[in-house]
Amino acid sequence: MTAASAPAQRGVLHRWGAVLPLTPATPLISLGEGDTPLVRSARIEALTGLDELWFKLEMCNPTGSFKDRGMVVAVAKAVEAGARAIMCASTGNTSASAAAYAARSGLESFVLVPGGNVAAGKLAQAIAFGTRLIEVDGNFDEALQAARELTSRHPVALVNSVNPHRIEGQKTAAYEVCEALGDAPDVLAIPVGNAGNITAYWKGFGECAEVGRSSTHPRMFGFQAAGAAPIVLGVPVEHPQTVASAIRIGKPASWAGATAARDESGGLIEAVTDDEILEAYRLLAGKEGIFCEPASAASVAGLLKLSREGRLRGGRAVAVITGNGLKDPDTAVSQYKPDVTRAPATVAGVERALGW
Ligand SMILES: *Cc1c(COP(=O)(O)O)cnc(C)c1O
Repeated sequence: MTAASAPAQRGVLHRWGAVLPLTPATPLISLGEGDTPLVRSARIEALTGLDELWFKLEMCNPTGSFKDRGMVVAVAKAVEAGARAIMCASTGNTSASAAAYAARSGLESFVLVPGGNVAAGKLAQAIAFGTRLIEVDGNFDEALQAARELTSRHPVALVNSVNPHRIEGQKTAAYEVCEALGDAPDVLAIPVGNAGNITAYWKGFGECAEVGRSSTHPRMFGFQAAGAAPIVLGVPVEHPQTVASAIRIGKPASWAGATAARDESGGLIEAVTDDEILEAYRLLAGKEGIFCEPASAASVAGLLKLSREGRLRGGRAVAVITGNGLKDPDTAVSQYKPDVTRAPATVAGVERALGW
């Protein structure tokens, strides 16, 4: 094959290597992550009072969540450093991503998950990628504490978002948003769990403004689930509860990064209830054709809430759609009464069943 006909190299390390901490020894691994669609809202926009609402479809990453952007950098740097194994604590998506990039790189992976609290699709992914799954009797925060301790004692690289390479990779989404819109948006709406992603976007937008990729930076609007809203309350939540399992976190590792993003940008971090999250979840699927997981809908639920309170006036917002709805089939099934009609397998039979 000639160079001209070879497909272009995709992926965060190829596309954004210049703004990442790579060296000539960093392996340029890729599953084609990043470069996700930025699509304009078709119908929710009109409900918000915004001039423009856009969705950054991070659910389109290879394992179905934004975690791939940071994981590819963390795993590449782990390989570069000679690691043979990686470990993370996870509410699900980090484990799916870590396990995928470990499989691809020939590393062993160990995943600590809160027992009985991980969405079925995410577990299926981690298992398929051949991870060593450790179900702990505790919540995510306890699992992360254990993972930190274990990786300090054993020759295993920690790939949670406390690993700065994760944040570096995830910041590339902000670069893509600025590139697609020709500038930073006025508002960036994002769900907040362990708070690595809001920290990463804020870093990315800051860098974009610094080098002239944007003329301004957005106000950062972070949204936590009401039952897991430590940053809103100002104190850790011991028993976080929400349908949005990806943000069921009571003691965010990047707490300081999130409040810095909020305060430096003139933004806010507020809570949305599970009912508000599920309303946005159904609206995104039914009015936009976007089937995301519940945590992702928190960004849109937050914008709808602010708009109902008369606190959104015009401007251009981007809502980050962090993960794919297929990951949590149980919530999907519980939210809908399927519209199913039984019919004989004949034209006349289907016509009769539909009343045509
Ligand atoms: C990890 C995750 C979040 C939360 O991101 P943080 O960086 O932990 O704040 C939100 N939504 C989905 C789908 C996730 O996987």
